[in-house]
Amino acid sequence: MASVTNALVAPVLSPHSGPAQAVAVAVELPQHAGLSDCLLYEVSTYPLPEPGQLVRVPLGKRTVAGVVWSLDPLPPPGLPIKPVADVLWALPPLSAAWRQLTAFAAGYYQRGLGELALQALPPELRKADAKQLAQRVRRLQQSVAKARAAGPAPADTSPSPPALPQDRPVLSAEQQAAVERVLPDIGAGRAATHLLFGATGSGKTEVYLRLAEAALAQGRQVLVMVPEINLTPQLERRFAERFPSHRLVSLHSSLTAAQRANHWLMAHLGLADLVLGTRLSVFTPLPQLGLVIVDEEHDPSYKQQDGARYSARDLAVYRGSLEGLPVLLGSATPSLESWQRAADGRYRRLDMPQRIGAGRMPALRLLDMRSAAGNTAAGKAALAPALLAALEERRARGEQSLLLLNRRGYAPVLHCSACDWKSQCSHCSAWRVYHKIDRTLRCHHCGWTDRVPKACPNCGNLDIAPLGRGTEKLAEQLSTLLPLARIARIDADSTRGVGSLESQLAAVHAGEVDVLVGTQMVTKGHDFRRMTLVAAVNPDGALFASDFRAAERLFALLMQAAGRAGRDAELAERSELWLQTWHPQHPVYAALARHDYPAFAQSQLHERSLAGLPPFSHLALLRADARDAQAATDFLLQASEHLRELTAQEGLDSILLYPPVPPPLARLADVERVQMLLESRSRPALQRLLSLAQPVLMALRTQHKGLIRWAVDVDPLAI
Ligand code: ADP
Ligand code: ZN
Ligand code: ZN
Repeated sequence: MASVTNALVAPVLSPHSGPAQAVAVAVELPQHAGLSDCLLYEVSTYPLPEPGQLVRVPLGKRTVAGVVWSLDPLPPPGLPIKPVADVLWALPPLSAAWRQLTAFAAGYYQRGLGELALQALPPELRKADAKQLAQRVRRLQQSVAKARAAGPAPADTSPSPPALPQDRPVLSAEQQAAVERVLPDIGAGRAATHLLFGATGSGKTEVYLRLAEAALAQGRQVLVMVPEINLTPQLERRFAERFPSHRLVSLHSSLTAAQRANHWLMAHLGLADLVLGTRLSVFTPLPQLGLVIVDEEHDPSYKQQDGARYSARDLAVYRGSLEGLPVLLGSATPSLESWQRAADGRYRRLDMPQRIGAGRMPALRLLDMRSAAGNTAAGKAALAPALLAALEERRARGEQSLLLLNRRGYAPVLHCSACDWKSQCSHCSAWRVYHKIDRTLRCHHCGWTDRVPKACPNCGNLDIAPLGRGTEKLAEQLSTLLPLARIARIDADSTRGVGSLESQLAAVHAGEVDVLVGTQMVTKGHDFRRMTLVAAVNPDGALFASDFRAAERLFALLMQAAGRAGRDAELAERSELWLQTWHPQHPVYAALARHDYPAFAQSQLHERSLAGLPPFSHLALLRADARDAQAATDFLLQASEHLRELTAQEGLDSILLYPPVPPPLARLADVERVQMLLESRSRPALQRLLSLAQPVLMALRTQHKGLIRWAVDVDPLAI
């Protein structure tokens, strides 16, 4: 039978094995259940489970996973509590630091503790019973032990010679300086946040690799966060090549349930040295964590957009201070929040303005679309003649171009010229997009799709036509305008199939494409050697958007897009970024022309400070959803009165409450949305009000008979 040396032999749970004790267990409760997040259970094992131990407990008619939060005294007799169903001893308890991180996130983002703690666990582990979990852990430990015994595995079994561990390049002076600033914090295990402000192509990844190397050499684990799943394979490859004898796992939502559980377990058990993941990886338990890297820290994908709306970037910084370890935020266009913190001295800024190999950033050219040259064919031409000529010139030289248009589909709306009918979505306040390829109208918000009507559904007119232009139409037009060019399109539609993005990118890299048409999807991370022209077809929209972060996003997007060009030092000289614009004088473009992010940041921060916007104030949105917009508005108006009372009672007079308004997308999938903005110069005051408001809002919802769904978005991306 099981040998005594097996560390996994667990105490058998039996009601007779010890005196009864109560434990508070964090469980996932339905939102607004009005119960406290931790429920009391009785446990009588010896030893008792420690805080952080995963258990299974009865909840209603089900048995669910829970995390022991504290050991509590038994309640007085007569208040019977249910016993814990099972203790998952095979899993070491989640550390105090992990519990603190999840508790902080729950408090700060106004969600249930149990909800946050349980959602941070892989779904498969939430379902597993003690026996399944023990088996899984044993299998992982055995496979790692076997791999260790076999020594570093040969790269592959093909006849080609085994790949040698990659050499490290000699660092540039800037890279060296950046690395040297962070090394002492890794060595000393000191909390510090560094903002690596490095141009695209300045070699930020090499800095990450060197710092990871230093942490690994000390036996520490490293967490590397990336904004998007698409970016994980490339980075994973670079880390895996550099650290062939270390174990690397990835964590993101496109893994299978079993992979995700295994990778998470490897991290938690200390069997993985490097964890590379998207925002959800910020909650990975890492007993030996020594360094956190957040690549493209400005990217909006770090903010969760539903449920617990946390910012993984901000939580990473908090985690660093909690666990006493350095955090490195990297970006060519840092978020203004991070930029301001660096200016305040809270973060240390490390600058790397130079591109490796002296490749310079492409020169900016603004194509004034107001001039006659740009306004051919009654302003309908997608591309100015000069741009078309430039594309053709590139093609003839064997160079590549990228055309950026942030709108997928053929046309954003279908229109009847006789009666003015438009392809409105019946479930959302949005147009349905015309997709010519499969002749459908699709709502990009709720997904409602049907066939394109043969005639106007309103008046029967046969002459219904697309208005405006998306990537599909642009690619189609280009193939007529540039008959010799090989044109490819990459966007969310063209890359639905598994591996299709990879194969399309491979075609670009292999030089099988002259002009690539794409959405912002292609602007991130990819390194196109022969690309010498990047052109934004219609970037102006963002200049006048109501979203106060629109200019910041546009700047980041265009800098990132520009970074795709001129990677090859030889070609860098003639690399250009072209913008078709009706507002060539706009200051955002002027700063872009100089590649001057600091100047751009300064002017934006000035405007934000005058307007009292973040980072100079702190925002929260109270959202209410209902079938009926008036009900949602009434809910918020009543909430607003309660909030006003609370601010008066508590002396929280620094908080501004704005009237309820519908967001830009007011109706989504037949749900009407209304939101109310809360603004304060004081983060603690806002936090205090929000937590006081929780019970009040829950009671108010009950008054509304549950017909309202409400949620708080702390530090919202858009207002
Ligand atoms: P970033 O992440 O800042 O955009 P990368 O890390 O992708 O930049 O680096 C750009 C290119 O320069 C990559 O091909 C990388 O391999 C190369 N590189 C980085 N550092 C060095 C170095 N010190 N010496 C030579 N090549 C380098
Ligand atoms: Zn009509
Ligand atoms: Zn819709």
